[in-house]
Amino acid sequence: MAMIIDGKAVAQQIRDELRLEVELLQRTHGVRPGLAVVLVGDDPASQVYVRNKKRACAEVGIVSFSHELAADTSETALLALIDRLNADPAVHGILVQLPLPRQVRGSVVLERISPAKDADGFHPCNVGLLATGTPSFRPCTPWGVMELLRRSGVDPAGKRAVVVGRSNIVGKPVAMMLLAAHATVTVAHSRTPDLAAVVGVADILVAAVGQARLIHGSWLKEGAVVIDVGMNRTLDGQLCGDVDFDSARERAAAITPVPGGVGPMTIAMLLKNTVEAAKSR
Ligand code: NDP
Repeated sequence: MAMIIDGKAVAQQIRDELRLEVELLQRTHGVRPGLAVVLVGDDPASQVYVRNKKRACAEVGIVSFSHELAADTSETALLALIDRLNADPAVHGILVQLPLPRQVRGSVVLERISPAKDADGFHPCNVGLLATGTPSFRPCTPWGVMELLRRSGVDPAGKRAVVVGRSNIVGKPVAMMLLAAHATVTVAHSRTPDLAAVVGVADILVAAVGQARLIHGSWLKEGAVVIDVGMNRTLDGQLCGDVDFDSARERAAAITPVPGGVGPMTIAMLLKNTVEAAKSR
């Protein structure tokens, strides 16, 4: 039976470490890290994410600057706000909550954020730095996956890692991070034939698909470490991952639950990016 990798506990550990770092930064340099959180529109899920991010900031002593804009805000107005935040010395990290309304081009907005304040790690400069092995800001969910592995004592070096999913926010960056950690990495996606066979060679499996319980435990290599990024709602309203947890825990050596696995790590790494930005200033 697999060991359960407790993302809630690891995220709490990271927040506790960050609280101490923030105190030290304030005491020794008089700097309090600041994160600007920009929300455009009134999408209820985004409102919950933003509220959780602000609460997590407060817990570790990061100041959060909230900018809640109307759904019909123009791209020009949003870019002007980002320019102001880029120039504001109290703001060390900027986060624009996605998705953005249709009249605003997401790529233009994300590229306008200064790479030095890119708390989400989505700016092409930071993506390029990650790809060339000299990361600056790392995207939060993939970095959270790597921290879960590291703090569970799983060293990817020499292991076969399979990432299912190739999105810019999860699949691709986590594949690059695993490669940098010396794993032999395969990236699978919707056109991959015989996914079960590909999954079956993984010592480390990262699932980032967005399809409830797509990956069955019988596909896994005995003793695999399974990190399930998926967050899916079932018809009865329950939250579940991309991996069928009950069958997977029979074969895996370790597995993250959903909820309580990767989810809490994303915000913890966002806070870490903000603190790192303040430190490097
Ligand atoms: P995307 O929809 O952007 O990407 C999904 C990927 O899965 C694509 O590359 C797609 O392939 C691949 N895929 C789809 N169907 C299959 C299939 N049947 N077999 C193999 N591959 C398939 O999703 P995200 O990367 O944004 O998110 C993935 C999951 O992670 C979602 O459940 C999301 O909610 C969750 N998530 C969780 C976070 C957290 O904090 N825990 C943060 C971000 C995401 P193709 O490219 O060919 O279309």
